[in-house]
Amino acid sequence: MNVTDVEVLDSNDPLAKYRDEFHLPENTIYLDGNSLGALPKRVKQRVKEVTEQQWGNDLISSWNQHNWVNLPQQVGEKIAPIIGASEGQVICCDSISVNLFKLLSAALSFNGTNSRNKVISSHDNFPTDLYIAQGLQGLLGEQRCQFVDVQEDNLLRSIDDSTAVVMVTEVNFRSGKRLDIKSLTERAHQHGALIIVDLAHSAGAMPVHLDNWNVDMAVGCTYKYLNGGPGAPAFVYVNNALQNKLQQPITGWFGHQNPFAFNPQYQPKSGIKQFLAGTPSIISMSAIDAALELFDDLDLQTVRKKSVTLTTLFDDLINQYGLNDQLQRLSPASAEERGSQLSYSFAYAYELCQALIDRGVIADYRAPHFIRFGFAPLYNSYKDVWSAVEQIRNVMQTDAYKESRYAERLAVT
Ligand SMILES: *Cc1c(COP(=O)(O)O)cnc(C)c1O
Repeated sequence: MNVTDVEVLDSNDPLAKYRDEFHLPENTIYLDGNSLGALPKRVKQRVKEVTEQQWGNDLISSWNQHNWVNLPQQVGEKIAPIIGASEGQVICCDSISVNLFKLLSAALSFNGTNSRNKVISSHDNFPTDLYIAQGLQGLLGEQRCQFVDVQEDNLLRSIDDSTAVVMVTEVNFRSGKRLDIKSLTERAHQHGALIIVDLAHSAGAMPVHLDNWNVDMAVGCTYKYLNGGPGAPAFVYVNNALQNKLQQPITGWFGHQNPFAFNPQYQPKSGIKQFLAGTPSIISMSAIDAALELFDDLDLQTVRKKSVTLTTLFDDLINQYGLNDQLQRLSPASAEERGSQLSYSFAYAYELCQALIDRGVIADYRAPHFIRFGFAPLYNSYKDVWSAVEQIRNVMQTDAYKESRYAERLAVT
């Protein structure tokens, strides 16, 4: 591979035109879209309109006039095709953490018994997912909620008749390893368990088939590959078959049958709207609403294909330059078995990451000693990959990462 081959890949890229939809800073190669997606230009425009016109001039009438009140559902319906869901099953609200709490509690109340009280997850799942399950165990007591975290490779065989809920993340945040959700769902159902899938690192990066896989419930966030902005609200998917059987525990007024009747008695709405709790964050939700327009008419197979080519190119270049002596790939060797990221183990991962940021290559560090590169097919080019590896090569060959200033730890890593 040389730079000309890489330029040919870019000139044949069917997604190349999307790059211009994003505001990307000069002299920066952004390989962290799996943590915070880049800013779509149309979001800037929309936020300006929502603050200046809607909030500024139209004030409270905007709830009706600009349909603020239906934004959670409208955004949910835009997310639905991206995750393989038909209408009426997705809604945008709160964070993944809060949504997991709602779904896990609802699933346990519906499906749990004294002999079926286990929540199974993998030890290597994203910590907030684990913390929520631990908190729920504390709240409900072990008799009703026994949280069990197993090795990722043992997930499938750990599901048995004592499992109430399987809670898994499709793409591992650290290694990028992708789980087989279809098989896990089948196994869960064979044993009478429900499954909740976290799509944080899947939604927008690859096709997902929640309906076809027969998944019961899912959550995901909108600030990673969906580019909704920092702290943009997350989403909830509840399969039609379950919706009116579940009762989520945060019985707030936005999930009430008729919030503006101000009835003192809680009565849940039917359908997916029951999963709302309080007033939606309109500015943020408007931002994600605009960002999702980029997914209209977008073929996620094409997105996935580019993602696979991007990660393969990156890893091939690392090997081509012999950098794999020091950077040991944690992610699976086969691109098919990983998400849109690559992680490498290196004793000086933190320092390397800082040295790269200093040179305009933005990646991230994940404790204890991993450096992680995320590839966003809508705005990363093959040339980005080439240039990033050139910088890594430079920093590694000159030992530049050993400069003491790169060892200083920042609050957010
Ligand atoms: C990013 C991420 C989260 C974030 O959760 P929030 O509560 O929305 O902050 C949760 N789970 C996984 C797997 C993630 O990657």
